[in-house]
Amino acid sequence: MSAAKLAGGCLCGAVRYEIDGAGESASHCHCGMCRKASGAAFVTWLGVAQDKFRYTLGAPASYRSSDIARRAFCAACGSPLQFDYHGTHDHTHITVGSLDEPERVTPERHIWVQSRIPWADYGDGLPEFSGED
Ligand SMILES: [Zn+2]
Ligand SMILES: [Zn+2]
Repeated sequence: MSAAKLAGGCLCGAVRYEIDGAGESASHCHCGMCRKASGAAFVTWLGVAQDKFRYTLGAPASYRSSDIARRAFCAACGSPLQFDYHGTHDHTHITVGSLDEPERVTPERHIWVQSRIPWADYGDGLPEFSGED
């Protein structure tokens, strides 16, 4: 793997992807839908230009989680991989936890903090937003 790319995939290995470059910015999302979709306290997303993202092995299943969004995940093992808003096809969001080297991404903010579980506040000093940003 080149240093100019990020790669990742699901837990079972059926679905793999790669990103040209390092992505845009990363956010910890505390919304209730991300919590349900992941089973985790919050989800860290990396924004990526759609034309810099591609699946390299397999293809995810997807679920239309609201009128405005779609969530993609491995149909075999369930790992959450991607989130898209309908109509904004130039931009997508990838789960930082599914990257092979998540430490290469530095989160910049917390979003939807009004939905945050009280014990999931780590006081890291990053900016907080009640919506997306
Ligand atoms: Zn899988
Ligand atoms: Zn969310």
